[in-house]
Amino acid sequence: MILNCWEFKKCGSESKKGLGICPAFTETKAHRLNRGKNGGRICWAVTGTHCNGEKQGTYAQKVLLCSDCDFRRKVKDEEGMTFRFIYFKS
Ligand code: SF4
Repeated sequence: MILNCWEFKKCGSESKKGLGICPAFTETKAHRLNRGKNGGRICWAVTGTHCNGEKQGTYAQKVLLCSDCDFRRKVKDEEGMTFRFIYFKS
């Protein structure tokens, strides 16, 4: 089953800690990349996601967090040769 990060992590689109809606849920420029809804399957490249209930930084700042993430491994396995690692916002 193709899941977005908020479905896999079961965090919901809106953080419980008052952070508002996670940008992975609203990043329309990443829509359909890796077959996800908005940034839902390329969240590692979305700035300010709410992973682990905390507001994260830029891709460069969360690269270590994401490199050990079970969701990113799952997307990579599912997408195979068509896996997209980054996207461009312009
Ligand atoms: S830790 Fe990184 S790869 Fe994992 S769900 Fe959060 S943004 Fe996505």
